[in-house]
Amino acid sequence: MADNTVVKGRRLSGSARAPKTYSTTRRCAHEGCETTLSRYNRREYCFAHAPTKYPRLRGRVVSDDS
Ligand SMILES: [Zn+2]
Repeated sequence: MADNTVVKGRRLSGSARAPKTYSTTRRCAHEGCETTLSRYNRREYCFAHAPTKYPRLRGRVVSDDS
């Protein structure tokens, strides 16, 4: 009864697929931006286009031409 054992799970084994890592050369998702992102960087945008918040600029307008 055990000569036709079906291995459960792992149905996708055998394929030499690349591990789930990001491509080595990812570009910023910003249109026109050609900044490459590190594959360890999980962001979609580069540093300049990342929707980061600036904690320092709290209600303070920083401009030189005032
Ligand atoms: Zn960018």
